[in-house]
Amino acid sequence: MRKITLDRLDEFFAAVAGKLKLYIPVDTAGGAQFQQWRAGAKMSDALNTTRSAKDFFFPQTENLMEFKTEGKKIEIIDVRRENEDFAIFGVRACDVRSFDVLDRAFLSEPADTYYQNRREHGVIFSLACSKPAETCFCGTFGIDPANPKGDIVCYKTDDAIYMEAKTEKGANLMDSVSDIVAEDEGGDGESAVNAQKEIISERMKKLPLASLSTDKFGGDKTAKFFDDPAWKSLSESCLGCGTCTFVCPTCQCYDIKDFNAGNGIKRFRCWDSCMYSEFTKMSAGQPRLTQLERFRQRFMHKLVYYPANNDGMFSCVGCGRCLSKCPIQMNIVKVMKNLGEGGENNG
Ligand code: SF4
Ligand code: SF4
Repeated sequence: MRKITLDRLDEFFAAVAGKLKLYIPVDTAGGAQFQQWRAGAKMSDALNTTRSAKDFFFPQTENLMEFKTEGKKIEIIDVRRENEDFAIFGVRACDVRSFDVLDRAFLSEPADTYYQNRREHGVIFSLACSKPAETCFCGTFGIDPANPKGDIVCYKTDDAIYMEAKTEKGANLMDSVSDIVAEDEGGDGESAVNAQKEIISERMKKLPLASLSTDKFGGDKTAKFFDDPAWKSLSESCLGCGTCTFVCPTCQCYDIKDFNAGNGIKRFRCWDSCMYSEFTKMSAGQPRLTQLERFRQRFMHKLVYYPANNDGMFSCVGCGRCLSKCPIQMNIVKVMKNLGEGGENNG
């Protein structure tokens, strides 16, 4: 275990940023966001960023390739720029789990090499949540915010950050800055971290959503929930704005479009949303004609379809972003509470 006191945190960030691009959460007008570290940047104290860390591996917009045509000849231009090493500091346990969810979608054969390259080049400093919020329910999905995964796991106390490398990639990076952050041999690391873990698990037990359970959901529940009467009342106020899908760390839908740039074609991949009326529109028509169908698709995918194809793993990590961002206060918790209850109440 290594220790850096908070008054030397800038020194540590500068040392890491000297090795690779470093991103840290900083406060902005739109809430905490990951930004590239620059001298003087102050790490946000917010529990989580408005947008999740999935952007680093699956960006909202990316130029996949370009084409140039000359008569019948087509030249394909590789514009990849995702081969650069980078590190993200302060990723919470829920967002770290979201990478497992995304991995199953993007790394199953044939692997998405754009995503794969970024995963290989990214180093994750996870940060235990000392104060989980009332909207957090990561525990529902078996995630422990006191024991996040990641390449380097960090614990912040009032005066220091303790760090422990968990992967070879993490150990190599920490070794490269060992003149700044040395091993905490014989120090207070273990007891400080254990005290933090104790505080976190006590707080987790008291959260309002601590008892929310996935027991009634799973990969074999399509027949049970598909025609549930609760979908009607749950979905009727949904604006189809897609906010819930854009802030969600596990949503993974995208669209690919070609644009004529004048001197050639540019192919882009952009996030899409199953909540949009034109999502997966095909020449044969739109497969989901109503907002109820689109709304149902999003939550059935998180709670039934994804676990059916992924050994029971749910594709929600309980980060709580959709609870705080939906303009009509609709969210996955209300869906989980109301489905299968035989009614149309969405309170
Ligand atoms: S559930 Fe809420 S955030 Fe999601 S599309 Fe509907 S209105 Fe927008
Ligand atoms: S569905 Fe909501 S709570 Fe679950 S991972 Fe997505 S944004 Fe977070």
